[in-house]
Amino acid sequence: MTLSDPWSSVSETHFVLNCPLCGEMTSFSIEAKVTSERHSWDGQNMRFMLLLCEYCQDILIAKQEGDDDVWLAPEFLSAETKKMPRPPLHPHIPEGLRRIHEEGMTCLWAGAYTAALVMVRRILEGVCILHGFTKKTLVQNLAEMKDVGLIDWRLFEWAQALRVIGNIAAHYTDEEVAREDASDALALSEALLEYLYVFSLRFEAFKKRNPEKVMPQGQSPTQSSGSSANTPSSL
Ligand SMILES: [Zn+2]
Repeated sequence: MTLSDPWSSVSETHFVLNCPLCGEMTSFSIEAKVTSERHSWDGQNMRFMLLLCEYCQDILIAKQEGDDDVWLAPEFLSAETKKMPRPPLHPHIPEGLRRIHEEGMTCLWAGAYTAALVMVRRILEGVCILHGFTKKTLVQNLAEMKDVGLIDWRLFEWAQALRVIGNIAAHYTDEEVAREDASDALALSEALLEYLYVFSLRFEAFKKRNPEKVMPQGQSPTQSSGSSANTPSSL
């Protein structure tokens, strides 16, 4: 696998690379480095490195071609298709949505960033359908979710951004999707799911236990200063 992500040699002892095992853009320490005479020719050198990912603590072997002054991006030789174990999504999140999110993470780990964004779009569609919003377009459904107070302005803004980037991924373009965009989109979709299916329920339970600590519905601390609710300034 050749690395297409930006990378840099920050020192003689470390690289900043996108780890193919944990998926993080992180620092690798060079544990050992050998320049091979056998693989070098015509002024071109090849060296092999034993790299330690400082995020997941896994070991990778990489080769690097270059000459005395300039080395090209390292190519991992030992990146097995394995995923870092990560905690599963909360069981209150519907199974179908958890499965799509997992598929999105698998796409991310495999470097299929466009496919990962398509999964994010499917998550948004699923969220709308499971909440009973079945208008023709996703944008209409998200707006309705905001209007009825299921999501606030900030989450609506997130969802809109995810919808737009998911749309770009779902239709032909010669534009490449950046790993960071796919990774952020999946993280935001996860936060959206947790907000809707986990924290909203926990807050309802909290309110029931502590009614005296909760402001009456619709009242926000900024209302007294003249701002209206449900706008960015009220968040
Ligand atoms: Zn790693």
